[in-house]
Amino acid sequence: MTYVINEACIDIKDGACVDVCPVDCIYEGGRMFYIQPDECINCAICESVCPVDAIWHKEDLPEVSNEFTRINAEFFGESVTGWGEPGGLTPEYRTELDHPEVSCRPADPAAGD
Ligand code: SF4
Ligand code: SF4
Repeated sequence: MTYVINEACIDIKDGACVDVCPVDCIYEGGRMFYIQPDECINCAICESVCPVDAIWHKEDLPEVSNEFTRINAEFFGESVTGWGEPGGLTPEYRTELDHPEVSCRPADPAAGD
């Protein structure tokens, strides 16, 4: 089980969740943050601080966001960053890369206002 970040984070990316995660398992991509599913300890602290309700327990994700469980996991795989389980966010684990299913999404003109 893990917590998952969904499409609501895309182009918002304020980093509030990163500041509170006790195990630093939330990593920065180009347009959103991603949770490393094997490092997440399911404490739910991040969920309570996200201003756009982008963080969900895997079991509670809205159906329209179901693919984000896979997208968060695949971000760490060979097809995207190849980071595996980095063991905690450090400067070397920030990237402009995104999962291809995130990169291809159109920009929300309201984001960043
Ligand atoms: S649930 Fe806890 S451990 Fe998992 S990403 Fe959120 S703050 Fe980090
Ligand atoms: S708190 Fe929410 S919007 Fe902010 S970076 Fe984390 S998931 Fe994205």
